[in-house]
Amino acid sequence: MSDRLPGFSTLAVHAGAQPDPTTGARATPIYQTTSFVFNDADHAASLFGLQAFGNIYTRIGNPTNAVLEERVAALEGGTAALAVASGHAAQVVVLQQLMQPGDEFIAARKLYGGSINQFAHAFKSFGWNVVWADPDDVTSFERAVTPRTKAIFIESIANPAGSITDIEAISTVARKAGVPLIVDNTLASPYLIRPIDHGADIVVHSLTKFLGGHGNSLGGIIVDAGTFDWSTGGKYPMLSEPRPEYHGIRLQETFGNFAFAIACRVLGLRDLGPALSPFNAFMILTGIETLPLRMQKHCDNAKAVAEFLVGHPAVSAVNYAGLASDKYNQLARKYAPKGAGAVFTFSLKGGYDAGVNLVSKLQLFSHLANVGDTRSLVIHPASTTHSQLDDAAKIKSGAGPDVVRLSVGIEDKEDLIADLEQALAA
Ligand SMILES: *Cc1c(COP(=O)(O)O)cnc(C)c1O
Repeated sequence: MSDRLPGFSTLAVHAGAQPDPTTGARATPIYQTTSFVFNDADHAASLFGLQAFGNIYTRIGNPTNAVLEERVAALEGGTAALAVASGHAAQVVVLQQLMQPGDEFIAARKLYGGSINQFAHAFKSFGWNVVWADPDDVTSFERAVTPRTKAIFIESIANPAGSITDIEAISTVARKAGVPLIVDNTLASPYLIRPIDHGADIVVHSLTKFLGGHGNSLGGIIVDAGTFDWSTGGKYPMLSEPRPEYHGIRLQETFGNFAFAIACRVLGLRDLGPALSPFNAFMILTGIETLPLRMQKHCDNAKAVAEFLVGHPAVSAVNYAGLASDKYNQLARKYAPKGAGAVFTFSLKGGYDAGVNLVSKLQLFSHLANVGDTRSLVIHPASTTHSQLDDAAKIKSGAGPDVVRLSVGIEDKEDLIADLEQALAA
């Protein structure tokens, strides 16, 4: 065997997987079973006491899901990962390990619309308070830090406008505050950006988007960078204090640099229950095998479409970090040199009505609330994903009334441009 470390495309195909030891099956089997037989009573007891690793029950872990976890951990450069039922489930499980009622976390204001809702409303009922900061102004994160701050949450490439976040600058704020930096890497995927290389302590994904990549399966994942010391100052009792549900063990002490992933599994997933179906894990694993090929095509198409829109008379502005003229282009060159992703927004001179009109005229672009599909997608955020925000908040989050969001697929770029051309002419 060569001692060369495998490259990204090799990991995308192979990491975590091997031929099935009993059948020789080369593709990862779907272990469609709820439970797993124990060798004997001692084995059962050691699994329940966290003294041995192994399968118990699919809510806590499953061999198909384990391949997915190992693969995404390898692609992101983390120590371990935990797959869950959706991107939103990943966010709940992560924060449950960090937050006590009355605690705060700081989140970038430019986020997926569903995350804004989840943080502002659903989490409030758990007593978890979100404090918003401006991802374009690092000092706004510094100013938001209080003794109750337990984490900072940002997106690497931020919804809806595809803006690029200065991960390193914000990670410096997190380090100084003694809190972990959580990066939602959904829109970039590890092919474009690996947040752990830039100081992230935890990475989350909606696997539903580019990683699965085919618009057919929901999923989420949490990657532990293994970089954060959870024992300092008793701030993170879930990780540093004896756990009554596991004979008083301390997770950080027992599991070291993958204690966070273990906490998410044995305290989060086990007790909250948002398990990923092994069938979905299989679909997402299959998608990940072609991630590098798809992502490059997504980015190349997005750039061509953005360049077309810049020259169109009905368009007043295009926000795509891959354009040399874009205000995020410097950050894109630093963080995402292979491409600035495939999700971006543009504004129409005709305002709200023109936005609504455009989505109804497009034929190849599907009008729906998703991103990161092989198919090209379009939405008018102000009338859909961001409609719950007031006008000022819409504009602040990049979803003003005249804004249209595209998720550019992997079709032929000439066909995508022709579709936009006919819809803009109408
Ligand atoms: C879709 C999405 C989520 C939520 O993921 P689900 O799988 O739909 O729960 C979170 N963050 C971003 C950036 C997303 O695009």
